[in-house]
Amino acid sequence: MKPAILDRLRGVQKAGPDKWLAFCPAHPDQKRRSLSVAQTGGKTLLHCFVGCASDAIVAAVRMTLADLFSEPGVPPTPSPQIIATYDYHDERGTLLFQVCRLEPKDFRMRRPDGAGWTWNVKDVRRVVHRLHELAEAERVYLVEGEKDADRLVSLGLRATTSPGGAKGWRRDYAEQIARARRRGDPRSRRARPRLRAAGRGGSSGGWRGGARAHAPGLGRA
Ligand SMILES: [Zn+2]
Repeated sequence: MKPAILDRLRGVQKAGPDKWLAFCPAHPDQKRRSLSVAQTGGKTLLHCFVGCASDAIVAAVRMTLADLFSEPGVPPTPSPQIIATYDYHDERGTLLFQVCRLEPKDFRMRRPDGAGWTWNVKDVRRVVHRLHELAEAERVYLVEGEKDADRLVSLGLRATTSPGGAKGWRRDYAEQIARARRRGDPRSRRARPRLRAAGRGGSSGGWRGGARAHAPGLGRA
């Protein structure tokens, strides 16, 4: 497959396998062919011996650098897409951060910065999912993954999970949940938290001693 840019260059000469020479369109190139064009792995490499930058060369023939990476016949590498976002609020419902699920499968966290999002949650307080909804909850289901938690909530239950899955479990999460529940109901101030770990294999990180709840049909998010 020949690079598309060759159709827009003057004086194209084949210089080897997947390699061509042409007059550089970005500087007055009359006598010698200063521009080398090479094709490698679906990518077009440009080199002007006079020193023109690649973006100047493509601009001179009304193309963009992106065009060099999208040669026909070569499937473009998919860039990650956000396919789901999960909000994490503090006890009062203030949005602290968001977990984004990407495709190809990956998870990233970001925080609101007033104008949009910053992909850095280094100094952001970590809380469990749906913390602000746990007040007065008689029973809280601890599952692995926001998708499962949201599904239980859609069934009318109270459910939570930790950001980053079981590996991201922190010691203070159980206390966070217990405090949130007590806050909702002063009468149960002294009641012990009743957490239930649900989910496949019960691999809920640092959580110990929770009875398994029956949660049929729950898969890994
Ligand atoms: Zn040049």
